[in-house]
Amino acid sequence: MELQKPTHVALLSSPGLGHLIPTIELGKRFVLNHNFKVTVLAVTSQTSRAETQILNSALTPSLCNVINIPSPDLTGLIHQNDRMLTRLCVMMRQALPTIKSILSEITPRPSALIVDIFGTEAIPIGRKLNIPNYVYVASQAWFLSLLVYSPILDEKIEGEYVDQKEALKIPGCNPVRPEDVVDQMLDRNDREYKEYLGVGKGIPQSDGILVNTWEELQRKDLEALREGGLLSEALNMNIPVYAVGPLVREPELETSSVTKSLLTWLDEQPSESVVYVSFGSGGTMSYEQMTELAWGLELSEWRFVWVVRAPMEGTADAAFFTTGSDGVDEVAKYLPEGFVSRTRKVGLLVPEWAQQVTILKHRSIGGFLSHCGWGSTLESVTNGIPLIAWPLYAEQRMNATLLAEELGLAVRTTVLPTKKVVRREEIARMVREVLQGDENVKSNGIRERVKEVQRSAVNALSEGGSSYVALSHVAKTIQG
Ligand code: UDP
Repeated sequence: MELQKPTHVALLSSPGLGHLIPTIELGKRFVLNHNFKVTVLAVTSQTSRAETQILNSALTPSLCNVINIPSPDLTGLIHQNDRMLTRLCVMMRQALPTIKSILSEITPRPSALIVDIFGTEAIPIGRKLNIPNYVYVASQAWFLSLLVYSPILDEKIEGEYVDQKEALKIPGCNPVRPEDVVDQMLDRNDREYKEYLGVGKGIPQSDGILVNTWEELQRKDLEALREGGLLSEALNMNIPVYAVGPLVREPELETSSVTKSLLTWLDEQPSESVVYVSFGSGGTMSYEQMTELAWGLELSEWRFVWVVRAPMEGTADAAFFTTGSDGVDEVAKYLPEGFVSRTRKVGLLVPEWAQQVTILKHRSIGGFLSHCGWGSTLESVTNGIPLIAWPLYAEQRMNATLLAEELGLAVRTTVLPTKKVVRREEIARMVREVLQGDENVKSNGIRERVKEVQRSAVNALSEGGSSYVALSHVAKTIQG
């Protein structure tokens, strides 16, 4: 009897760890749950040490076959002032010929192409190959609604979005406050805004959308996107939307020496007594803000693990493509005098990059002061950890609002960290609110709600759960 060959799908990810990591996770699900063969085409920036590390570990024999596509030469195509999304879109556009030749040549011929949100210009390549094309949105459904509805807002609304008196209405979803709009909508004259609208128009060109959330978490926003939902009426977007999440990474197989000593220290701390502080793969802050954060942590009198980067003025995502190589001594130079020695017993500093998932799994972690990137958010809630929302860039202000105001899984800063300096007293208060939990009326219930959401995430991914069923449906459609 001839053994049936596994179905082969090709996944395309754009530069940046917030894109590469979730794409690989989606690939793993297809392999583990559906016995597919998966090839990940990873367009990479080649400028980030962490990206190289993750890529190298993915390139070693593993569940998915990963093909690295180094970003082509962009000389003359982008300007010094071009922002992150423009850079991403240009990198992806320039990589299209390589993507095309790989997709035409790999064997067995892929039965479907799944691209991330910056890869929608590759959909015509999939069409030519006569295979179904999906978009994988590694973020949440409310943001997806705004993204695909933005071309309509562009026609309806005059003037800058941030100057609007009223919140932006998206049919079927909560309105988006002008100050919460994604970075790319802040300046309608910027090249980045045009690229962003292109992404919003590109997504509905696919045969289906996969989104890294789950039904029980975001039912309303998912309904709004679906056939019969107001958004689908407005956009005529009658393509299926599958909530397949939360897809998050497993802890790293190999722990670095830094992580080993960190885990030994965490072992000695009481349960849920440490706040983990990290701003994703790109987050940076000003020197003044860093000083306030250091004082805030110290004033809170709670324990902490802080992934520290050198301060940067004027931009919140400066480290996105440039994870550096500073050591503890180097970053300590930017912290208040005596901070390191005063907090030696209660806090640990990790320079630049930490093995986050491994740390978040530890029972001593009781809160996560986070920039609210969706990857970090999911890693937090799937480990039952409440958040302190400190949004910086991209769609993070929307994530923070969703977490703090709709889902009750986070406390958030009263000022926007990209607009004003968050003061030490407020930082200390938020840390106490989250870590002390029930003793404080305001945060009462946050921890319980996070644990409920943690359970609902497990159920969604278990056999028969909503996300498991949704991905099975996609797998069956691909198999034909
Ligand atoms: N990450 C990590 N160590 C760090 C910072 C980030 O392992 O020091 C990982 C994190 O676990 C997550 C990803 O990088 O999986 C960042 O994705 P996210 O969506 O949170 O934010 P982004 O970096 O895209 O802003």
